[in-house]
Amino acid sequence: MTNPIGSNPIGWGLVGASTIASEWMIDAFRAQPDGAVVAVMSANAERGAAYAARHGIASAYDRLDALLADPAVNAVYISTTNELHRDQAIAAAKAGKHVLCEKPLALTLADARAMADACAAAGVRFATNHHLRNAATHRAMRQAIKDGLIGTPIAARVAHAVFLPPHLQGWRIDKPQAGGGVILDITVHDADTLRFVLDDEPVEVVAMSQRDGLGQEGLEDGAMTIARFRSGLIAQIHDAFTVRHGGTGFEVHGSAGSLIARDVMTQRPVGSVLLRTADGERELSLSPENLYVRAVRAFHDAIRGQGAPAADGDDGLRSLAFALAVREAAATGRRVPVTLD
Ligand code: NDP
Repeated sequence: MTNPIGSNPIGWGLVGASTIASEWMIDAFRAQPDGAVVAVMSANAERGAAYAARHGIASAYDRLDALLADPAVNAVYISTTNELHRDQAIAAAKAGKHVLCEKPLALTLADARAMADACAAAGVRFATNHHLRNAATHRAMRQAIKDGLIGTPIAARVAHAVFLPPHLQGWRIDKPQAGGGVILDITVHDADTLRFVLDDEPVEVVAMSQRDGLGQEGLEDGAMTIARFRSGLIAQIHDAFTVRHGGTGFEVHGSAGSLIARDVMTQRPVGSVLLRTADGERELSLSPENLYVRAVRAFHDAIRGQGAPAADGDDGLRSLAFALAVREAAATGRRVPVTLD
C-alpha cells in the first residue's frame, strides 16, 4: 500500500456534495471508531462551503486536486454523478488515496476497468458501494442457500420497483450523459445482490423497459428483466421509479424450499425472510445493522490489511456489465450475453 496509515484514524474526503453522503455516508464514516470526515469537494464553491458547514466538515474545496493534496485525506468517497466517477477515481488513486466509489462505477466497462487498474497500480483499496449485500436479510439468504435449506436454487424474483422521491428527480430522469435511468440506477444493485445471494454469475438477459411519466430524454423509468445464471437458474427482475405502492421483495425458489424476503430492497436495515419447506414455515433469525456502517467497517479493515471490501472493483464491474446488457436487451429486443469485454 502506498498509503500506510498505521493506527491513525482514516480521514475521508467526500468527492461530491451529494444527497447519499448527507443522508447515509457521513454518518457511516463517523460511526467507525477510526473514521473522520475531513473534507468535501463540490464543483460549486458556495454550495460546498454550505455543505461543509451544515455537516461540520473542516475543509471544502472546489477542485479535486486541492482535496487530493490535503494530507488529512487518506480515502475518498466518490458520489458525484456517474459520468464523473472514472476520472475522479483515477486521480484519487494516483494521489495514493483509497477509493470507495458509488455505483454504477462508470458508464462503460472499459472505464470501470481503468479505475480498478489505476487503484491496483497505485496499491490503494478500491470498493463499490453496493450496500444491499451488507443487509442482514440478504446475508441470511446467502447462508441459508449455502446450508442447503432450499436444496438446489431454481429461480429468483426481485421486486425493486419503487417511487423515486421528488428530491431525487433530477439527473436520474433527464440526463442520459450522467448515467440516468432506472437500469443504471437500480438494476445494478439487483445484479450485485443476486450474485451475492446466489453465489452465481449471470450469463444472458432479455428485457423490456418503459417510460411512464418520469423518464425524459429517452431514459427509462421502468424495466423488467429475465436473466439466466451459470447454474441454469433463471431470475425475474422488476425495477421502476414509478411504482408508489408495490413494496420490495427478493425470492429464491429451490428444489426443497423457498426463501421469501419482503421489504429488503431498501437502504434501511429492515425486512424479513421466510423459509418455506415441506416442514412448514419459519422466519430466519436476523441481526440487523446499518448497511452502510457495515460496508465502511469492511473497507476500513481492508485498508488496514484485514480482509476485503464488502463489494470490490470486480463486483462493481460485473454489476455494470449486467446493467449494460439489460439496457442493450431492452433497446434491441434481443437476448444479450453478459460479458466483461
Ligand atoms: P445527488 O444529485 O444528490 O448528487 C450528485 C451531484 O449533484 C453532487 O456531486 C453535486 O455536485 C450535485 N448536487 C447535489 N445536490 C445539488 C443541488 N441541490 N444543487 C446543485 N447540484 C447538486 O446524487 P445522489 O446522492 O442521489 O447520487 C450520487 C451517486 O451516488 C450516484 O452515483 C448514485 O448512483 C449513487 N447512489 C448510491 C446509493 C447507494 O445506496 N449505494 C444511493 C443513492 C445514490 P457537486 O458535488 O459538484 O456540488
